[in-house]
Amino acid sequence: MSFFSSVALAPDDPILGLTDAWLADPRSPKVNLGVGVYYDADGRQVLPESVMRAEATLTARRRARSYIPIDGLPDYDSATQRLVFGEDCAAAAEGRVVTAQTLGGTGALRVGADFLKATLPFAKVAISQPSWPNHQVLFRAAGFEIGNYPYYHADSHGVDFDAMLAALLAMDAGTVVLLHACCHNPTGADLSTAQWREVAGAVRDRGLLPFVDMAYQGFDRGIAEDAQGIAILLEAGVENLLVANSCSKSFSLYGERVGALSLVCASADEARRVRSQVKQTIRANYSNPPTHGAALVATILGDPDLRAQWEEEVGQMRGRIKAMRNGLVARLAALGHPEFAFINRQAGMFTYSGLSPAQVQRLRDEFAIYAVSSGRICVSALNEANLDYVADAIARVAG
Ligand code: PMP
Repeated sequence: MSFFSSVALAPDDPILGLTDAWLADPRSPKVNLGVGVYYDADGRQVLPESVMRAEATLTARRRARSYIPIDGLPDYDSATQRLVFGEDCAAAAEGRVVTAQTLGGTGALRVGADFLKATLPFAKVAISQPSWPNHQVLFRAAGFEIGNYPYYHADSHGVDFDAMLAALLAMDAGTVVLLHACCHNPTGADLSTAQWREVAGAVRDRGLLPFVDMAYQGFDRGIAEDAQGIAILLEAGVENLLVANSCSKSFSLYGERVGALSLVCASADEARRVRSQVKQTIRANYSNPPTHGAALVATILGDPDLRAQWEEEVGQMRGRIKAMRNGLVARLAALGHPEFAFINRQAGMFTYSGLSPAQVQRLRDEFAIYAVSSGRICVSALNEANLDYVADAIARVAG
């Protein structure tokens, strides 16, 4: 009798499972709009020139692969902190911000969640409705009770801001509120600057603890612009704040697993104690993070020339995403569907298209176009070669 005989089969990841089904589909043309990966105009994953040049520099240096500190490469941590908080952040200058390299944005969220569970065991966690499904999964795995706050307004395809604000103002003090910095996944609906200010005021006045997830910095308006919510929270006088950021998309380093957790503390002394506990959390999980991806990012951010090239490359990705949004909206309008104009108002790699699960199923069955059943479409999977085909198929299933 096996010790594992009672183990039940867990469901496949709904999004990764979609890619498997798409790969196995023998039809042509076929399009995968399900993934959360940026593709270039030729439908290929990007190998940024800045990353390739940094790679050459590192190879030439012939570094031995020793262990790195538990909280990551110091150069990476400080460069990432400036990327997330800007060059003139008072909290950072006062030594109140702890930044630790993690295994991608997911690792940052999980280390943060474990740290919070150990520090604030009775806190509740509130996640936007809807959100990236893994938010729920990983905060629950860390032992939290999860609630939702209203976020998406299906009729306007934007943020249901009044409902969101009312929910924040009704939360128990000490609730951890997970906020998307930009390019909300899955909806593409972001807060405006004015709305961020109102959120910051509510967070401060209710005594909530914001945990900002920034997986798409640079994909909407720009590096600093996309981090504005973090600056606004701090300007409003919010004392404590966590940020999970990811280099997966912005540096196209998905498989290298590069991210960071940052925690804003009330004093430099508090920051020292917080860092020691974050290190305990990391130590108990994977001891210390991998070297290579973080060394690439530190090399790029530490060299003005490479950094300028990287910023330009992020700008190209951002520009192409916007062009594909425009292209889809224009084609759908020409096919008699002007109601999809909202796609141009949404930000980042995803759009909540408003297509029903049945319509998504028709896209798959009749056109070999794969999307998540919620109607989420990855805009960066569109290109000049498939745009007409996709627009035509959407127009047909939209009726
Ligand atoms: N947060 C959000 C909102 C995401 O969409 C993603 C990636 N899909 C992540 C976090 C995790 O990023 P990473 O791949 O760096 O773990």
